Amino acid sequence: MNKYKIAVLKGDGIGPEIVNEAIKVLNKTAEKFGFEVDYDEALLGGCAIDATGVPLPEETIAKCKAADSVLLGAVGGPKWDNQPGNNRPEAGLLGIRGALGLFANLRPAVIFEPLKNASPLKAEIIGDSMDIMIVRELTGGIYFGKRGKFEEDGVPAAYDTEKYSVTEIERIGRVAFDMAMKRNKKLTSVDKANVLDSSRLWRETIIRLSKEYPEVELSHMYVDNCAMQLVRNPKQFDVIVTSNIFGDILSDEASMISGSIGMLASASLSSGKSGLYEPIHGSAPDIAGQGIANPLATILSVAMMLRYSLDEPKAAEAIEKAVSEALKTVRTPDIYTEGTKKVSTSEMGDIVVSLL
Ligand code: NAD
Repeated sequence: MNKYKIAVLKGDGIGPEIVNEAIKVLNKTAEKFGFEVDYDEALLGGCAIDATGVPLPEETIAKCKAADSVLLGAVGGPKWDNQPGNNRPEAGLLGIRGALGLFANLRPAVIFEPLKNASPLKAEIIGDSMDIMIVRELTGGIYFGKRGKFEEDGVPAAYDTEKYSVTEIERIGRVAFDMAMKRNKKLTSVDKANVLDSSRLWRETIIRLSKEYPEVELSHMYVDNCAMQLVRNPKQFDVIVTSNIFGDILSDEASMISGSIGMLASASLSSGKSGLYEPIHGSAPDIAGQGIANPLATILSVAMMLRYSLDEPKAAEAIEKAVSEALKTVRTPDIYTEGTKKVSTSEMGDIVVSLL
């Protein structure tokens, strides 16, 4: 029987509440699909500051490195807002991504059929459903490039640099092509090659790489056009691959199309099999401890973990199906509509378990 070790970072705010539900679901999936899961809890974020003085203790890094995969809730909250920048809960988040070498961020923008009305886009634009995967480069580009401040003609000025090497582009490109192969074999590479040298290198490299993936239909799009196409005709996209900064912006735009922040999962992958899986939302301090947080983004993050790190695609599919089924009748308050039953965080977890 396969046995997986999962490092669990519940974090702050609603983090522990939603992760507990995701664990319930993972346990049920393990029982049903015949594998075992071992959990190893560790501290990250505000709870780590309270216990150890720092947001990312060495012990947490060691536990995550020793695990097959990492499940994270969310970090942060007003209690730690006055910490200096490098000791804030969010610094722990950046730190763990760096320590685990997570260079690829996968963000699905999915609309479940029962939630179609939650999207700000018109029903005819969305059609029956929407399912886009955005693959964002996470450890290069302008967020990590050379930067500085200087004086220009006596006036303060500043600069940041967008830099990518062929190695970095090939690495993220492969993740995206592999992803496209597992889905509908359509990849859109997004750049600004009409203006930026780094984008021209990006495009050349992706085109060269595409020769290894003859089955994937590759297209290119400028980032400004892509921002427009995502709201004009999102159904044209299957997988999108792009740089760190463009991906940051486009993935937020795409997630808004789905209409509910409590529904969206994400994965960050390294070059090995391991990855870090988390909902895209934060620690929601405004609703923490009330038992009303939506646990589905975290539950769907577990589905991504099963698919991309643990090679249990059937278990992943079963979770996604159970979530879709649950949404037909029950809703947490953030996605509640008339005609459905309002349920708590743990009731939602129980219902997904019962549908598995
Ligand atoms: P947030 O995502 O926590 O909350 C935004 C709004 O969405 C709030 O009204 C919240 O109640 C609601 N919401 C979020 N998740 C929900 C869920 N699962 N169910 C129901 N409603 C949900 O963003 P914020 O308020 O800007 O940030 C709060 C804290 O979280 C800050 O400290 C921030 O730095 C941190 N944060 C952490 C992460 C992370 O851990 N990855 C990401 C973003 C923000």
